[in-house]
Amino acid sequence: MQIRSKLPNVGTTIFTVMSAMANEYGAINLSQGFPNYPTSQKLNDLVTHHLNIGHNQYAPMTGVPELQEQIALKFKRMYDVDVDPSTEVTITSGATEGIFTTIASLVHQGEEVIILEPAYDSYRPAVKICGAVPVIHQLYAPDFAIAWDAIAARITSRTRMIIINTPTNPTGYVFTAEDMEALERITADTNILVLSDEVYEHLIYDGREHQSVLRFPNLRQRSLAVYSFGKTFHTTGWRIGYCVAPPELTAEFRKVHQFNTFSINTPLQYALADFLKDPTEYLGLPDFFQRKRDYFLQRLEGSRLKPLKSSGTYFHLFDYTDISDMREKEFAIWMTQQLGVAAIPVSAFYGDGYNNGLIRLCFAKTEATLEAATERLQGL
Ligand code: GLN
Repeated sequence: MQIRSKLPNVGTTIFTVMSAMANEYGAINLSQGFPNYPTSQKLNDLVTHHLNIGHNQYAPMTGVPELQEQIALKFKRMYDVDVDPSTEVTITSGATEGIFTTIASLVHQGEEVIILEPAYDSYRPAVKICGAVPVIHQLYAPDFAIAWDAIAARITSRTRMIIINTPTNPTGYVFTAEDMEALERITADTNILVLSDEVYEHLIYDGREHQSVLRFPNLRQRSLAVYSFGKTFHTTGWRIGYCVAPPELTAEFRKVHQFNTFSINTPLQYALADFLKDPTEYLGLPDFFQRKRDYFLQRLEGSRLKPLKSSGTYFHLFDYTDISDMREKEFAIWMTQQLGVAAIPVSAFYGDGYNNGLIRLCFAKTEATLEAATERLQGL
């Protein structure tokens, strides 16, 4: 029997590969992005409470209304935008499902989707599975600044969607209001949709403000924005996120969502709805993570790893070209196996494996872990 792969060039995602290697070699895992400190006890207790009071059957396909309402209140509080909970918010199985469902529901065979690389590794395969064509616009170190005119030049009559990610994984770049205005300009008077991956909206530093697509009315009407409770409440294993989009786009999104996962874990949705009632649970996140970033950088001062700049996400890029001329993947594997610190090669975020001489490290770790990791990294 012959299997005709829909993704012949796709292997296992780099995050799974590097975490497995970290475990195999007993390395400190700064590769895959997840926290290694405990979840809030209050949140855990709320989950237990909702399990015990019997919130254990199917949730509504679109999400538990209490949670949709709390999400809408959060948008009002954070960005002063009005979101209709029932027609504009859909709870998803992590942001990854939100990304996949957005593309599957709105991108047709043969259409083009513009992706800014380095990009999270799920965008390109999701586009390909739909028989659509990823149109790649690469950005480069050190600043990964976006030349919007060059992106505008890639727009054709077949362009259906542009995918953006702010704050950006893996670069830590945070889109400015000017970036969003430029995106608004180049999509004006077109039928181009915007998929905005905003999972790191609360992980933003140095007083910067998150420029959500929802804050720009001309973008909002053409945008589906995806978010992640895994990133926000340190619960990446729970797989709960959500998608916010205007009612007409949400209606299309839900047609696919219902046959993709149907509905999402009920007790966790109720627990998150209760937890969101206290805004301090998310308003303190920039400070919490900025302290980690600064501690990590301070512990690496004088090391031969040269930090770039991270203004958002819980990732930091480092230039290792003073240490080695190995390719990024080779260097990340060497670090994991020989030095005992696992990293992600930034080339994994480029479809063609482009090498900037950079690794990505995750600083969402306890102080003890960051201390032990930086001690090893200082030895490089
Ligand atoms: N978003 C996380 C990262 O970039 C991991 C996601 C995953 O492993 N699927 O590390």
